[in-house]
Amino acid sequence: MTSRDPIVIAGGGVGGLSAALALAQIDRACLVLERAPAFREVGAGLQLAPNACRILRDWGVLELLDGAAVAPQMVRIRRGTDGADLARLSLENSEQRWGAPYLNVHRADLLSALLQQAQKSPLIEIRTDATLTGFIEDERGVAVTYRDNDDFRRAAGEALIGADGLRSVVRSRLLGDENDRPVYTGHTAWRTLLPADGLPEAMRRPASNLWLGDRAHLVHYPLRGGQVVNVVALVEDSWRGDGEAGDFWNNQGDRKFLLNRFRNWTREALDLIGAGDNWLRWPLFDRPPIDPWARGRTAVLGDAAHPMLPYLAQGAAQAIEDARALAGAVKARPKDAAGALAEYSSARKARAGRIQQASRDQGEIYHLSGFKAFARDLVMRASGPDRLLRRQNWIYSA
Ligand SMILES: Cc1cc2nc3c(=O)[nH]c(=O)nc-3n(C[C@H](O)[C@H](O)[C@H](O)COP(=O)(O)OP(=O)(O)OC[C@H]3O[C@@H](n4cnc5c(N)ncnc54)[C@H](O)[C@@H]3O)c2cc1C
Repeated sequence: MTSRDPIVIAGGGVGGLSAALALAQIDRACLVLERAPAFREVGAGLQLAPNACRILRDWGVLELLDGAAVAPQMVRIRRGTDGADLARLSLENSEQRWGAPYLNVHRADLLSALLQQAQKSPLIEIRTDATLTGFIEDERGVAVTYRDNDDFRRAAGEALIGADGLRSVVRSRLLGDENDRPVYTGHTAWRTLLPADGLPEAMRRPASNLWLGDRAHLVHYPLRGGQVVNVVALVEDSWRGDGEAGDFWNNQGDRKFLLNRFRNWTREALDLIGAGDNWLRWPLFDRPPIDPWARGRTAVLGDAAHPMLPYLAQGAAQAIEDARALAGAVKARPKDAAGALAEYSSARKARAGRIQQASRDQGEIYHLSGFKAFARDLVMRASGPDRLLRRQNWIYSA
């Protein structure tokens, strides 16, 4: 390794590309190794909270989402059984309140904006079809091995960042703990994208809609300049996989199951579920927090460090925050990779861990039933929109 070796980033998802962009902005060269043969059009909607949008704006990525992103004017929360309004939270003052917009985007559009920005930088090299298989480090650097089709290749780096997602190879190797595996939470996200044409006006409005029910909730919002509507049904006990299935985007679900599961819900919600003829299931996994996130010249970032239940819509946002913090630490200690990664780990783990836990708690609150649900609804109505919005300040204002 030489002092000019790049920082190697395993994984070219939201976290990996964000890390590359953030590091390039402080003039550090990066090599991104992405397992997939190409950046495919996969996934569905992502809510990008102001804490993520602020950073994306600094990197010049937000403007690339013009036209693709939709700014919801409010979050509307309703009760699933009868459609009664529990809260309407205005997002129109997001800029004044949190210093950045709140946007809904297609994951593929966000990835393509990050990629487009990364490709402008001569400091970022991206190799696809490159699966990290192992790494060793010494006091001078990190040597990684990766598979490119049937060939095994090597690369040298000043440091290694594992942004390789929920089933991170880097995390496993870092911890060396065979029991540290993703655990199925019993919750499954069922997702579909509907053409906006033909849907009732209420479904097409620029709003993030949330319906709460017994051990399930439903989320929908328009995407791609309003051309499609993203619908996610989050349901407990609706998947019986072995927990190891690879590509969950291809995990087809049966609409009849969902219609039956939501049979006690109001007509409007059932119509929305019935309109989707291509439901894909995404079982949700959790992992305990790790501490520290870094050892020597290796660290983890994004879902590899803190896979998050999607109930606060913060997984991608936290990966983006990780990337900014990583670059900040590397900039502060330009000649001390291990010291920078240790600093990054201590700067990030408390906040990400707190949001990880808050996401779990939020899921429990959304899925309450009986008297507890009744009490939740009363509190929500009594609190009023301002108080409910203020509760997000610690997340969105960072
Ligand atoms: C249903 C659902 C809804 C969500 N909604 C939101 C939301 O509204 N807002 C939000 O902020 N977040 C949301 N999230 C969370 C968000 O999707 C993730 O937190 C985010 O994608 C994590 O990014 P990442 O880059 O860390 O991991 P990933 O997106 O998993 O990317 C990891 C990348 O690493 C690659 N890779 C894996 N192994 C290797 C290897 N060995 N070598 C090389 N490459 C490798 C993979 O191919 C992949 O490209 C949601 C998640 C789910 C499941």
